[in-house]
Amino acid sequence: MFVDMPPGTGDVALTVYQTLPLDGLVIVSSPQELVGMIVEKAVNMAKRMEIPILGIVENMSYVECPDCGKQIKIFGESHLDEIAKRHGIANTASIPIDPAVALACDTGSIEGIGRPWLDGFFEELVK
Ligand SMILES: [Zn+2]
Repeated sequence: MFVDMPPGTGDVALTVYQTLPLDGLVIVSSPQELVGMIVEKAVNMAKRMEIPILGIVENMSYVECPDCGKQIKIFGESHLDEIAKRHGIANTASIPIDPAVALACDTGSIEGIGRPWLDGFFEELVK
């Protein structure tokens, strides 16, 4: 079972950490948040609560130019690898902004989107 949590390390996170038997935590972030202290706080809280961090996903990593395929880093360069390395987290994934995802959501066909961004990521979670 996945528990989708609101952003931050406040009372909701604390309550979930204290009341549910968790296998681990997946941190979902963005390029800006990976620059600041938000992810660090989440990592440190998980460590304090002795909850394993199973991976970090960087959302909105880039937009791919429809003409040439170049990755445009709208929110700046990624610090995902650096943060993951610092905390010994081996499992990471980057998800771009992709209009096809919004379209697939709107048409109820997200299961068939067939994008490779999370290939291997979930397999690592259930190891
Ligand atoms: Zn281009």
